[in-house]
Amino acid sequence: MEKLDILVMAAHPDDAELSCSGTIAAQIAAGYKVGILDFTQGEMGTRGTPAIRLQEAQKSAEILGLNMRENLGFRDVFFQDDEEHQKAIARVIRKYKPEMVLANAISDRHPDHGKGGALASKACFVSGLRMLETELEGKNQEPWRPKVIYHYIQNNHINPDIVLDITAFWEKKMASIKAFKSQFHDPDSKEPESFISAPGFLDFIEARAKEYGHKIGVKYGEGFTVERVPGVKNLFDLV
Ligand SMILES: [Zn+2]
Repeated sequence: MEKLDILVMAAHPDDAELSCSGTIAAQIAAGYKVGILDFTQGEMGTRGTPAIRLQEAQKSAEILGLNMRENLGFRDVFFQDDEEHQKAIARVIRKYKPEMVLANAISDRHPDHGKGGALASKACFVSGLRMLETELEGKNQEPWRPKVIYHYIQNNHINPDIVLDITAFWEKKMASIKAFKSQFHDPDSKEPESFISAPGFLDFIEARAKEYGHKIGVKYGEGFTVERVPGVKNLFDLV
């Protein structure tokens, strides 16, 4: 199985694109292997169907150049942060052995986001426990704990601990978001309007990226919060 450098976890297909696809594109351009693990198919969303959203997720994966994208098929809105769900995620962590995990926001408007962020953190921890047994294709898996988890920021403003300059990847980020055609504003759509399909929603995404970019003196940025103090080997690695 191909080892990943970064595994992005997302409660819904399109969470990763809206919040951190500029970062994903930047890290892939720098030579890292990146995958996305979607927890649910977003079947409770107002627009689109699970089948359409899976197709859209694959299209976005191609645009970003992901090494893998999988969907755990958890229940949208009603998935639990419990042993069964932590183990299902641990199985994927042990399969791809990522060094870094990017996870949902620590809290947000949609309760799945904070819940998904906490579930991702716990799954990373339990995945490193030798006594937790998991199997893949009939074989016992080795424990694996990612070195670091960063939480991306979603709808609600959270003051970021780290901002990554995504200016060079802005167009790619927007292309990856627009791959989810059923979800965002389309003047020809006959589906009901939703929170994210309102015409101003993508303007908000741009405004947010400009705000975080402004904090570090670049045009566009994506922000993250940390679980432990970030360390660097060279102070000049910070911009
Ligand atoms: Zn979401």
